[in-house]
Amino acid sequence: MITAETKVKVASHPLVQQLLTKLRDYQTPSSEFRHRAAQMSRYLMYEAFNDLGTREVGVETPVGSSKGIVLSDYVILAPVLRAGLVLAESAQELFPAARIYHIGLRRDETTLQAISYYAKLPEALPPDSITYVLDPMLATGGSACAAISLFDKLGVKTIHLVSFVASPEGIKRVHDKFPNVRITTAAVDECLNEHGYIVPGLGDAGDRIFGT
Ligand code: URA
Repeated sequence: MITAETKVKVASHPLVQQLLTKLRDYQTPSSEFRHRAAQMSRYLMYEAFNDLGTREVGVETPVGSSKGIVLSDYVILAPVLRAGLVLAESAQELFPAARIYHIGLRRDETTLQAISYYAKLPEALPPDSITYVLDPMLATGGSACAAISLFDKLGVKTIHLVSFVASPEGIKRVHDKFPNVRITTAAVDECLNEHGYIVPGLGDAGDRIFGT
């Protein structure tokens, strides 16, 4: 059972919070931002993968026998283009067997609605698979809800959302529509501005990662 307390996991580790400070700083150049964003992605994915299922196995060491585990879940990574790619890369390093389905969503800057331009998904996915929707910024929640609903419609029961920074508005919108989605983030910020940007946030994550 997912309770209100466990639905949003804020990674409070000092290393994560130090990294977030670097990402927030407008003086951090794009080359460093990209590197720090990859580090942040690794930490957050460790946290988000914490409740993956495991299976016990036997293992022979050079001096004896031991018991160990292997990960047993069918994992899907769904990076929201383009900023979500940085999370997907780190996630796949940690879990090489994960399948990646890219989700192309852009925001109409006038209405702030999410508009889909790419989603190549199979007709069915194992219902017991776990999908991680990856987007560094959970702002209005429009893109997150659009991405989550693609997997919800395919019958996926367990969906996580991983972001660097989340807004209270975005969290509410996701949980109003999808109460069981678990969110892992490094911070829940104050609010959104009139352009739908998170305040204080870190600016446009895609522009800062890709130097555009
Ligand atoms: N997308 C971003 O990159 N940053 C925000 O603050 C909001 C949406």
